[in-house]
Amino acid sequence: MEVAAMTPHTLPAHLARVLPIHSSIGPDGELVVGGCSVPELAREFGTPLYAIDEQGLRDTMRRYREGLSSRWARSRVCFASKSLPCVAAYAVAQQEGLLVDVVGEGELRLALAAGVEPGRLVLHGNAKSEAELRLAKSVGAGLVVVDNPTDIEMLSEIEGGRQDVLLRVLPEIDANTHPSIATGGRGSKFGLTLAQTRETVERLRDHPRIRVRGVHVHIGSQILETAPFVEALRVVAGLGAFDIYNVGGGLGVNYSDDDDAPTIEQYLDAVTAAAREALPATAELLIEPGRSLVSRSGVTLYGVRNVKRSNSTFVAVDGGMSDQINIALTDDRFTAVIAERVAETPDTIAQVVGRQCESGDLLVDRAPLPAPRRGDTVAIAGTGAYGFTFVNNYNGALHPPMVFCLRGEPSVVVRGQSYEDLIAPHAPALEWTRRRPAEDGARRGP
Ligand SMILES: *Cc1c(COP(=O)(O)O)cnc(C)c1O
Repeated sequence: MEVAAMTPHTLPAHLARVLPIHSSIGPDGELVVGGCSVPELAREFGTPLYAIDEQGLRDTMRRYREGLSSRWARSRVCFASKSLPCVAAYAVAQQEGLLVDVVGEGELRLALAAGVEPGRLVLHGNAKSEAELRLAKSVGAGLVVVDNPTDIEMLSEIEGGRQDVLLRVLPEIDANTHPSIATGGRGSKFGLTLAQTRETVERLRDHPRIRVRGVHVHIGSQILETAPFVEALRVVAGLGAFDIYNVGGGLGVNYSDDDDAPTIEQYLDAVTAAAREALPATAELLIEPGRSLVSRSGVTLYGVRNVKRSNSTFVAVDGGMSDQINIALTDDRFTAVIAERVAETPDTIAQVVGRQCESGDLLVDRAPLPAPRRGDTVAIAGTGAYGFTFVNNYNGALHPPMVFCLRGEPSVVVRGQSYEDLIAPHAPALEWTRRRPAEDGARRGP
């Protein structure tokens, strides 16, 4: 019997560890995510496209929630929603029993629109407005995280009962991560010093409008070791006995085969072991994962516009910094696959670059790809977090749509922009140019 050119039917291990949990290879050798053929998604919805493995997202939320509660019974997991601030993700977090972190009135309103119970909301922010605090209190937000003395002044003036708060602590810990996402070092803009925290706890005892329930610490993001989390927990434990200790988020993820992030279980083991040593046995333990909760469930799809061989081989795609600006902010470098030929043996080492006018617009530095060509679909793994968050119109790019993929059914959960949407906010300028004809002597061009 003749053996046809064989298409492998399982994903190579180095791709399986970074692609969404529910990824597989379809009958024609194509990438399948959440049961949906990725080239078909690209055809149906266009590119760039954010695609989420919905079951993978739910699985990860459960893994965190059950993993934490089996190790520390009085505990809750908060979805740090800035990592994927779309109504569908808020709704899934609510359904999976998570609390939801929000910063600012915008995220607060997105969460409420998604049906998140107000009591499950945790309001953060280092520059809250009075309107935000009033809104949070009036809807019944479960916790407000106090960052500074002005938060306290404002909360003191808002009528009504006592608002439950946590005090955000500046632990003076330097986690080994990119400076723009390190938030616990001595010079950080976030939180109160240890001395200020102690003083504030004393001052707010018996306050008529504020009840301090505990302390909060968050040392940064994309942290690839567990020791700094343990250190941070010990710092807040040293502040005394409270009801609630919120030890933040920040666990890193694998973007490529070179990364070796701790697993969620290794992270939970480390944090709860430290809690057993340092926290009162009756205390409630909160964690706030963002990136490690959502990142792996997302792939971003791009169309290849051209393949250029100059001093390097460049695969230029139809998105970039406009939908994935974190590549420039944090130097994250991803894993790319050609969705039509996901398991074919690579023959080209290429730089996968975006279409925006910056050299930092680099999605993958050295991507091994099988004969990339114009019209292919490139899927970038691990882009569920902080891609959509920072979407922008650089070089007139339109915001891509987002689909949640579940058991072969794609559902559009965020509409993409049209060129009308791009131009509409400029309506006042269109009026203005009509009212102001070019002045005498102004150059009108050739
Ligand atoms: C951003 C943020 C998180 C989540 O961080 P990740 O690195 O995405 O897990 C958690 N808590 C606070 C206060 C944050 O600002």
